[in-house]
Amino acid sequence: MARLTLPFDCPACQAETGAEVSGLSDPAQYVDAKTRAILGAAGAADLEQSILRQQAQRTLRYATCPRCGAQNPEGLAHQARERWYNRLIAAGLGTALAVWAFFSPRVALVVPGLSVLLTLVMLVHRRREGLSTPWKVLAARFAIGAALTALVILVPRAAFVVPLLSIVDGMRSKQPEEDRAWAEAARAIRFET
Ligand SMILES: [Zn+2]
Repeated sequence: MARLTLPFDCPACQAETGAEVSGLSDPAQYVDAKTRAILGAAGAADLEQSILRQQAQRTLRYATCPRCGAQNPEGLAHQARERWYNRLIAAGLGTALAVWAFFSPRVALVVPGLSVLLTLVMLVHRRREGLSTPWKVLAARFAIGAALTALVILVPRAAFVVPLLSIVDGMRSKQPEEDRAWAEAARAIRFET
């Protein structure tokens, strides 16, 4: 794990604070032997430094200013954009699936199927990162998945409702992952006050 200290200019209060960002991956692993031979020692060191800087700046995007307590507007804007895309995708996909499921109910099984798959991916990712397992969230997601699957199988005529529910879920003002970005950044950044 690597770390880098760089200035953080708060766009909200204009204060400049030194920020040490830790937990960055070692940039040497991104520069292969061939690139190293072409660039030479000094060039490779420059490249590693700029890779490290990019990583640190990505973390600072979710920095909370130690002076004014504002969340970095850049990170907020990025999350707002992602939220908008998510809603658009949820609305488009959900509507299409609902229409399709109206005629072939089993199609609605895609919704709980994808949800369980994404939950498993999230679980593996968290394990790999050494994060705790959110048992309550897992239990809730699997219970909802099972209930939706039962609904599709037992009441095929109502199956089209399932994709519509996924639209509602996608419209939530805030996704749970959003807070995580700020919390992870807060752990990785140490401000020099
Ligand atoms: Zn500030």
